[in-house]
Amino acid sequence: MSQPPSTSLKTGYAEVIGDPISHSKSPAIHGFWLEKLDIDADYRAAHVTPDGLADYFARRKRDPDWRGCNITIPHKEAALDHVEDRGELRASIGAINTVLRDEDGALIGTNTDAAGFYAPISGMDLEGASVAVIGAGGAARAVLFALKRAGVAQVALLNRTPLKAAGLLTAFGLQGQALPLDAPLPPAALLVNASPLGMSGQPPLPLDLDPLPADALVYDLVYAPLETDLLATARKRNLATVDGLEMLIGQAAVAFELFFGEPAPRDDDAELREILIR
Ligand code: NAP
Repeated sequence: MSQPPSTSLKTGYAEVIGDPISHSKSPAIHGFWLEKLDIDADYRAAHVTPDGLADYFARRKRDPDWRGCNITIPHKEAALDHVEDRGELRASIGAINTVLRDEDGALIGTNTDAAGFYAPISGMDLEGASVAVIGAGGAARAVLFALKRAGVAQVALLNRTPLKAAGLLTAFGLQGQALPLDAPLPPAALLVNASPLGMSGQPPLPLDLDPLPADALVYDLVYAPLETDLLATARKRNLATVDGLEMLIGQAAVAFELFFGEPAPRDDDAELREILIR
């Protein structure tokens, strides 16, 4: 029989698992918030290989001090095989990034990426809007999930493999066009880069932003570098921008509250961002 979780959420530990894992910024983010809130719990990085995933969950399930975990590459899809998928995420986002244990000891998978992506733009009225998204991988799936819920009308989905983009539009029941990366941008209220293009060590993302209206917002999920060429070009045109740290911190904040039962102290974001870009 599984052991019940210990009564206080403010002790014990949560962790992030991946392979590799040493690059993860999650311990710095959660550790910063635990310290700010004076919570006597820990957040660690754990190196878990694909072969070790089943054993990891079996052991943690029995550990009363374990509050849950975040999941990064390459386990975001495979982890679904080890948890209850109560939000039917396999059929939508297709991946989980957080696992919790409920009061009966069951492991529950959830995904905080879509909420983390949406939080910085929640003030935008996207109902009926036309948007453009670049990429058709895991990050794009979380973005499309959030945009569908926000009621967008048209999505131009630009991707190296347009066929994959077309499949995603259908999967999410979204109207729009699947386009190659060199297609001209359509006018769009929001442009999101959900591809690795523009990231350090990756090819650039040469886009002509002229078709975007003056009140468009440009959102780059890439956070290394923080000021991508895409964001620099958008700022030169005086377009509003959101950088990748916003989503990174946002998805972590949702998970933090689930793990430790207290909202993350978001008033300290400026200090946290300084730590993360060091
Ligand atoms: P992914 O699954 O590896 O992304 C694959 C997508 O990128 C596909 O659309 C792929 O095109 C395209 N792509 C990859 N390499 C390419 C290349 N050399 N040229 C053209 N297209 C290429 O990664 P992901 O998990 O979706 O993440 C995408 C980006 O978002 C990463 O930079 C990641 O760091 C960032 N991200 C940020 C956050 C955050 O919190 N800020 C969260 C998640 C992800 P094909 O379909 O043609 O293969």
